[in-house]
Amino acid sequence: MSYIDPATLQQEAIKLYSELKQKESELKNKERTAIPQQEMPAQDPNKRIKNMSEVTYGYTAEQAYVEAMRCIQCKNAPCVNGCPVGINIPEFVKSIQKGDYQESVDIIKQNSLLPAICGRVCPQEVQCQETCTVGKVLKDKNLSVAIGRLERFVADWEQEHGKQSVPKIKPETGKKVAIVGSGPAGITVAADVRREGHTVVMFEAFHKPGGVIVYGIPEFRMPKRIVDIEMKTLEKMGVEIRTNFLVGRTRKLEDLIEKDGFDAVFVGTGAGLPRFMNIEGENLVGVFSANEYLTRANLMKAYDRQKADTPIFQAKKIAVLGGGNVAMDAARMARRIGAEKVYIVYRRTEVEMPARIEEVAHAKEEGIEFHLLKNAKRILGDDKGCVIGMECISYELGEPDDSGRRRPVIIEGSETVLDVDTVIVAIGNDSNPLIRQTTKDLVTNKWGNIIVDENCKTSIDRIYAGGDIVLGAATVILAMGQGRTAAKSINSLLASR
Ligand SMILES: Cc1cc2nc3c(=O)[nH]c(=O)nc-3n(C[C@H](O)[C@H](O)[C@H](O)COP(=O)(O)OP(=O)(O)OC[C@H]3O[C@@H](n4cnc5c(N)ncnc54)[C@H](O)[C@@H]3O)c2cc1C
Repeated sequence: MSYIDPATLQQEAIKLYSELKQKESELKNKERTAIPQQEMPAQDPNKRIKNMSEVTYGYTAEQAYVEAMRCIQCKNAPCVNGCPVGINIPEFVKSIQKGDYQESVDIIKQNSLLPAICGRVCPQEVQCQETCTVGKVLKDKNLSVAIGRLERFVADWEQEHGKQSVPKIKPETGKKVAIVGSGPAGITVAADVRREGHTVVMFEAFHKPGGVIVYGIPEFRMPKRIVDIEMKTLEKMGVEIRTNFLVGRTRKLEDLIEKDGFDAVFVGTGAGLPRFMNIEGENLVGVFSANEYLTRANLMKAYDRQKADTPIFQAKKIAVLGGGNVAMDAARMARRIGAEKVYIVYRRTEVEMPARIEEVAHAKEEGIEFHLLKNAKRILGDDKGCVIGMECISYELGEPDDSGRRRPVIIEGSETVLDVDTVIVAIGNDSNPLIRQTTKDLVTNKWGNIIVDENCKTSIDRIYAGGDIVLGAATVILAMGQGRTAAKSINSLLASR
């Protein structure tokens, strides 16, 4: 994939748009699958590494129409089964073909509350697009109908045209529900429970609500104005959001029920505890967890050195350890903060990388260098305790492990030193431990994730949980899916009380 400027993409789309409009009604499936997949217009890589604005612009109306026309409306619709929340994909795509964007977004919202967010960050290539018939016909799942881009198109259209309505609230019931954590899981529960007329109070540890989509995923991939709109909608629905409130410290979880009179509680506290390598030199100055680095940059605006309360020092050469989307976000943020060289160091190959293909392509366009089949052995420091390099060891791939990916095997004696002054560790996250440590009867598994039943109910009566705190570090759409299940359970519990 090489960069094509948005004007060229739009010219091609306009041409196709007028051709397709003329034969719209008699288009055969063969002709539909022959329509080229519409590239996502994006900022010029040389310009975007100097700003924080969103990298992708989103489809124009012509591009959306052309892409939607690639859908053959197959009867078995395998894409719907591939979607964790079962969105009626053929129907919303058909509405785009007709030009009825409001109808399209309304169809999506029957199953997913946050389409502008999911359209941007869902890993569609391993969900709805993986099973798309068009991709199968073309024998390349990367050529499936670009369902995520179409979802984003109609969701953005709705936000830009001010048609986003505040959901109707049933008459007040006088019952109170506490939501702990304001990420996608908490947002979903808050909306679904409030709609039933219950009082909802959301408690958030940080000074800004939104969870990882605010403090973790960078502005250039997930503009914060979109999350702000969702949070404002919740407030318009009457949800009270209390920030700087750390449940487990400010108030114990059980106190919310026993002392504060909440009838039910949902815990959606996420997986915010970074894992480290446990190697020599990891506590040197200049070693960050990706969580710290991204939170400082996104939430505390650390890149704005003149104004930020906690600016990040100017690093020149940065190694990022890991190959997932957190690693890509950290590397691309480091580039924007001004590092001259940014290296991704990953112990397998690009094929095994969990990051999305699009993110890897964007990172490469932005000049990030990939050191594959390598890992850190120790981090080297000077006499002031600052990072001056990283000793790496090389790997080769062996037999597949439990995850099905080929196991990386160390090549003895292959040590080399990478010249860096900063190391960002992005090798995964565990669940936040505070609530587990401060709630006596809450049952968790060996990784510290809360154990729930199929209704998202925990071991404690009237306490429910979902999202990353249950699943381990997962995805936005899975967190939302669990939020939906938990809200349904809470609503039926309160209906019977
Ligand atoms: C850098 C990064 C990039 C990612 N990229 C993607 C992506 O592209 N696509 C994708 O689908 N997923 C991505 N993810 C994962 C995704 O963001 C998470 O799976 C999702 O946000 C989980 O939602 P959640 O509601 O369970 O928790 P979170 O979003 O983590 O929200 C939990 C909230 O609870 C608050 N909290 C924690 N403890 C307490 C407490 N004791 N009291 C009060 N509040 C508390 C936290 O401050 C936080 O705001 C990414 C994650 C990271 C870190």
